Amino acid sequence: MSSKKVREWIDQKKDKIIDDLVEFLKIPSVSTDPKYSGDIMNAVKFLSSHCKAIGLDTKVIESDDGYPLVYAEKIVDPNKKTILFYGHYDVQPPDPLDEWESPPFSPSIRDGNIYARGATDDKGQLFIHLKAVEYLLESNDLQTNVKFIFEGEEESGGETIEAFVIQDQGKLLACDAVFISDSAMYAPGYPSVVYGLRGMVYTEIRVSGPSNDLHSGVFGGPVVNPANALALIIGKFIDEESGKVTIPNFYEEVKDIEEWERKEWAQLPFDEKKYKESIGVPELAGGEKDYSILERIWARPTCDVNGIFGGYQGVGGKTIIPAWAGAKVSMRLVPWQTPENIFNYFEHYVRYLAPVGVNVDVELLSVARPVLINLEGEIFRLAENAIEEVWGRKPVKVREGGTIPIVSTFFETLGVPILLVGFGLPDDGLHSPNEKFSLNQLFKGIETVSEFLVAVGNL
Ligand SMILES: [Zn+2]
Repeated sequence: MSSKKVREWIDQKKDKIIDDLVEFLKIPSVSTDPKYSGDIMNAVKFLSSHCKAIGLDTKVIESDDGYPLVYAEKIVDPNKKTILFYGHYDVQPPDPLDEWESPPFSPSIRDGNIYARGATDDKGQLFIHLKAVEYLLESNDLQTNVKFIFEGEEESGGETIEAFVIQDQGKLLACDAVFISDSAMYAPGYPSVVYGLRGMVYTEIRVSGPSNDLHSGVFGGPVVNPANALALIIGKFIDEESGKVTIPNFYEEVKDIEEWERKEWAQLPFDEKKYKESIGVPELAGGEKDYSILERIWARPTCDVNGIFGGYQGVGGKTIIPAWAGAKVSMRLVPWQTPENIFNYFEHYVRYLAPVGVNVDVELLSVARPVLINLEGEIFRLAENAIEEVWGRKPVKVREGGTIPIVSTFFETLGVPILLVGFGLPDDGLHSPNEKFSLNQLFKGIETVSEFLVAVGNL
């Protein structure tokens, strides 16, 4: 019944919703390049006045050395449940500009999609939350407390919100669940909930030998070559036969994939041929052979060299034994590997592998903890029901191979369920030219979130 009401409201408001979103998308709020900082402030102004206009108590939280957070809330009854929505108002840079069919900051509607930088990531998706709450406020049906926190540095490090969440310790942000729409559905028609993310240990190895580059004819032979030594070390990280990472104790804390997960994922459509074509590789022969492709990406840890440097890199030849060589190495972690332990194991292993005759330094650059959200609670069940009602199918439970640092921070600081429910589609082209968001996804998203909030209000 309520579902019909929200659909009618959306129908009536369609043009206004699109116009508002178009205004928001026109603002080039690119966070990574300081030349857009004025536009970032325009996005803050737009968002905070929009929150006020729909009836939310709104404030801008300034930051000394970062971009402001926008906070908004409506507390209808302190005894009722509270949902915290997270989104980001900044966007990726738009280049390469000549690949856009319509300019990135002049939103254009074609074939039921709105094309603009930020359409799906994340302005269009955060609009879903705001419009659902706007509908409930207008129709006097908001029975759930709602809070919104928007940041402007998601695409450029996210330090301001990270510091704020940690300092706040769940006071302003106290809630019963966090709701985030900043991702895509698994496939069209497959609404999904992401309940697991991989973590990360990022390191740099530096192998040093002689105090200067040496003549490889005069000194070559007895002097251990740091570049050769580096190759020897990193060449041992993966066992060729099994595809397993060889670092001792590396798998000690890894949580096994559960039976229900294997089953759930095995049923998902996955076209291996298309996937290979899309990334341009002849085979998917990496990783642990006894796990499926999705299992390897979502639930198994990795160790990857991200870059190698050192020695002569110019045109032609230069016969030297380089003084040093280095590599960036990252490990994707899965629950419940701890970054501290993994770095410790890694560092010891690298030193153990290093041949006599060189010195090795291993530096820790950054870490992120893996996340696994318990999907058993009441609030998750209500989200699942709302999704099923609107999309005609229960959401599939998936993990992601990537890392979303703010999710691990919410997870550790607030200790509440986090619902990662994306309404984008896999072909939305986020971070790419011609980014788009489907208007149908937008409207059905509003319906889903409003249904969910109504259900939570009835608890
Ligand atoms: Zn995003």
